[in-house]
Amino acid sequence: MKIAMLARNPNLYSHKRLVEAAEARGHEINIIDTLRCYMNIASRRPEIYYNGEKLKGYNAVIPRIGASVTFYGTAVLRQFEMMGVYPLNESVAIGRSRDKLRSMQLLARDGIGLPVTTFAHDPKQTEEVLKVAGSAPLVIKLLEGTQGMGVVLADSDRSAKSVIEAFRATKTNILVQEFIKEAGGTDIRAIVIGGRVVAAMKRTGAEGEFRSNLHRGGSAQIIKLSPEERSTAVRAAKSMGLNACGVDMLRANHGPVVMEVNSSPGLEGVEKATGLDIAGMMIEFLEKNAEKGSTKTKGK
Ligand code: ADP
Ligand code: GLU
Repeated sequence: MKIAMLARNPNLYSHKRLVEAAEARGHEINIIDTLRCYMNIASRRPEIYYNGEKLKGYNAVIPRIGASVTFYGTAVLRQFEMMGVYPLNESVAIGRSRDKLRSMQLLARDGIGLPVTTFAHDPKQTEEVLKVAGSAPLVIKLLEGTQGMGVVLADSDRSAKSVIEAFRATKTNILVQEFIKEAGGTDIRAIVIGGRVVAAMKRTGAEGEFRSNLHRGGSAQIIKLSPEERSTAVRAAKSMGLNACGVDMLRANHGPVVMEVNSSPGLEGVEKATGLDIAGMMIEFLEKNAEKGSTKTKGK
């Protein structure tokens, strides 16, 4: 196969591993800087140019589009799809999962366990929002946050109110969520490829930290998921329409709740914790599925 990987930084662990895994299986793989692609939108002749040349002959594309370039990145990916190139994840599915509100609505529609979550836009409604969200402790999140930044735990109703008001003053969207205390600063990441959980790890926050992000000093360990956790992860991936993703869950008393589905999961933590060749499994998925023109949505 000839594979394009849409990525900006070739030196990231995940990107290096995907290149290694593709080459080890005899494929040609080229890293294409998403933001340096330009496209010709003409009826029935979709084209993409890169470094002065037309991209040709690709069988598959691996989107590793950073959150900050989702808008342009999914447009480039959509153009690949219109050319009949098979994507590891489709642009529509990436768009769904990147939008926290949309993805929570889709997961809720499919009956998947979620932390009770409230969102609103108007800062004047803080009191009302708190009434609906329930009482403290509450977790307040900036919609645009990643790697645990912009995730705050408010212990009292009063601090919840001031955190909401402070965030609101910055005119960013927020959501207010029940605090799953029993998760004990640990979350679960399941990697789902082709409708199966292929690896799982738990991440535990540094001492005294409720956020388990590895970027915030958390540590990762392999774990075995319960059948319910496994099926929750698979259903969450399906409801986003993602072929390969990381599903982040918390162990609540009433069962697993999904926090987020990540369309470009980092591979370093999970490959090191489990010893599994996840990059290789992603390439294998493409080997089995990358037939010309067989994407589900072609960007629609
Ligand atoms: P980000 O997308 O920035 O990583 P998350 O929503 O995943 O933000 O939150 C970061 C971490 O905070 C999670 O990995 C989890 O450990 C913890 N956390 C988030 N939401 C809750 C919650 N509702 N209850 C308990 N812990 C939470
Ligand atoms: N292709 C559909 C759309 O973009 C997907 C619908 C959805 O995921 O909500 O309208």
